[in-house]
Amino acid sequence: MTWAPVPFGSPFSMANLPFGVVRPRGSDDRASRVVVRIGDHVLDLAAAGIEPELTTRSTLNALMASERGDAIRARAADVLQGRERGDWLWPVADVEVLLPVAVGDYVDFYSSLDHATNLGRILRPNDEPLLPNWRQLPVGYHGRAGTVAASGTPVTRPDGLVAGPDGIGRLQPTAALDFELEVGFFVGGPRAARIAPDDADRHIFGAVLLNDWSARDIQSFEYQPLGPNVAKSFITSISPWVVTMDALRPFLVESPVQEPAPDPYLWMQRPWGLDLALQVDLNGHTLAATNFDRMYWTFAQQLAHTTVNGATTGAGDLFGSGTVSGPTPTERGSMIELTWRGANPIHLADGSTRSFLHDRDTVTMRGFFGEHAGARTDRVGFGDLTGTVIGSDLTHSSTGKDRDAALSS
Ligand code: MN
Repeated sequence: MTWAPVPFGSPFSMANLPFGVVRPRGSDDRASRVVVRIGDHVLDLAAAGIEPELTTRSTLNALMASERGDAIRARAADVLQGRERGDWLWPVADVEVLLPVAVGDYVDFYSSLDHATNLGRILRPNDEPLLPNWRQLPVGYHGRAGTVAASGTPVTRPDGLVAGPDGIGRLQPTAALDFELEVGFFVGGPRAARIAPDDADRHIFGAVLLNDWSARDIQSFEYQPLGPNVAKSFITSISPWVVTMDALRPFLVESPVQEPAPDPYLWMQRPWGLDLALQVDLNGHTLAATNFDRMYWTFAQQLAHTTVNGATTGAGDLFGSGTVSGPTPTERGSMIELTWRGANPIHLADGSTRSFLHDRDTVTMRGFFGEHAGARTDRVGFGDLTGTVIGSDLTHSSTGKDRDAALSS
């Protein structure tokens, strides 16, 4: 099918061809290029003569805004299947893989019924787990776009106010650092408002894996009444290969029946669920595996909801799906659920236990489309999304005096 080498089982088959941005190792930003990933290589689109005005760039934003993505991806497929073989493929090991998008507005949702129910039970054990609005609209908050980072970026343990037994907040490194297993959806095309759910594929460019790193102790002190702020804004990691709407379209499936039916602006006639198997590992030990097909609110409804008030979308806007959890204990997409806020610590293969993340822990997320995504030659997935925790400044130097001494030495 292609002259490019594709290892068996690679998520980057000809059926995928996701976009990304790379530069040769050691070069500066002017050498950045838009590429498509194939197997363990990247195709340099500009070198292959494919729309260099959009592909000689350091982000995908211009391409995403242009509505030329499908055509460019189709031309890349033609090149990879054609007779001519130029010097257009680089081993991915020889390039630096960059954050692919200058993220515009970032909204993170809360759209998994099982996750929202678990969090309600943990945080408000005496109340109904779901608040009354939850089944009527996709609940979300605006996050910090400027700290979205590519896979592999170290995650510095954040400092913040944590309430002591006396109810007084004190500045300290979080003792409850968590991950959230999510999928991110990038907006493309011209600015638009009041988008109907069934028009979502004209406005969503593609998808990535997303880890919404969270500091649960900082979050529980700050979040009322306006929602999370610095407990989540320190970093949000995404996988660097943007799987396009064309590539994921074969995996669209019916989402769960919504009861009660939402307001008509959120109605869907077309299927907007995704058959997407997800997994999260901690230091190589699989903590949870679930499927995105049970998400209660779809990305199409999130887009409709975000624009119903007349607010416009822009190419490069990012929607986080919300933590993806399933109904069983091994399908929980965050530590706070997996350990029930530390009540049931996780036992790792090396004999250690975890309630939340330790320094030097590495979290890896993976996602493959299609329910039989095992051994096949046309696999579509994201590749790994990883992040390793490093200690906070306060961990290493707990007082200003210590810092001053370190600076003067
Ligand atoms: Mn989240």
